[in-house]
Amino acid sequence: MHAKVMDALGQLPNELASALRPIIEDKNFDSTISPEQFEHLLAHTNLSDSDLRLALLPVAAAYAVVPISNFYVGAIVRGTSGRLYFGANMEFAGASMACTIHAEQSAISHAWIKGETGIKDVTINYSPCGHCRQFMNELNTAKELVIQLPERQPMTLQQYLPESFGPADLGIEDALLSDIDNGITIAEQSELAVAACDAANRSHAPYSKNFSGVALKAKDGRVFVGMYAENAAFNPSLPPLQVALINMNMSGYKLSELVEAALVESAESQISQLARTQALLEALNPDIQMTYVAY
Ligand SMILES: [Zn+2]
Repeated sequence: MHAKVMDALGQLPNELASALRPIIEDKNFDSTISPEQFEHLLAHTNLSDSDLRLALLPVAAAYAVVPISNFYVGAIVRGTSGRLYFGANMEFAGASMACTIHAEQSAISHAWIKGETGIKDVTINYSPCGHCRQFMNELNTAKELVIQLPERQPMTLQQYLPESFGPADLGIEDALLSDIDNGITIAEQSELAVAACDAANRSHAPYSKNFSGVALKAKDGRVFVGMYAENAAFNPSLPPLQVALINMNMSGYKLSELVEAALVESAESQISQLARTQALLEALNPDIQMTYVAY
């Protein structure tokens, strides 16, 4: 796990730090808190549900990779299963600003990667920017989604984003995080291409139909997948490489450990992930090998 995440325990109230330490130090800790663990933390701290989530934010923010801004944003989302997922912002030196990942996108993607099919609430240490409000409006739970900020009453996303534009305006019913299978198959059978194809099968791309996925391999052989998350307003769409990098970061890996990548996307779509994927990988490390499969 990242050293900064362990250090963040020192910023927490004593009762919370002592109850959380064994959870975070467990070798199987995956940057999530189960409903049972959350109940245990509530009992040990006497905090309310929202105050406990707010108190945990320094741990989420410790995952931030922010070489440009040095501005640490943490987010915690609760999936419909009740599990909590940490997320943090990520920036990439040498790449375009458009590659930046916001904390809300990180936490939501983290929950999606691990199989959640809806988000109940989002807790953040700074007010969500307009880009993130639009990104969250793509969720299948956007109408009920609750946002919790420090020193604020909980409010719904729709209160933060009045008169919103979303998937329903373009006739889309399977919104982001819906459990879908795009039914893609490829001939290429390398480990990374197969993993990227599995991710493409779960991707949300109702506007371009460019169902796409990325798989990344770390030096130790571990594989991290990412699915494309398209948005009704197009620009807030999160490319599959970004989701895979979130996966890697939230698994406690440094991006410098990335050695190999695969991108699987449609050859028939009017858009392509190829140029942006290559550009960001090049900025991360020009020696990363990439397999490209257009089905
Ligand atoms: Zn944002």
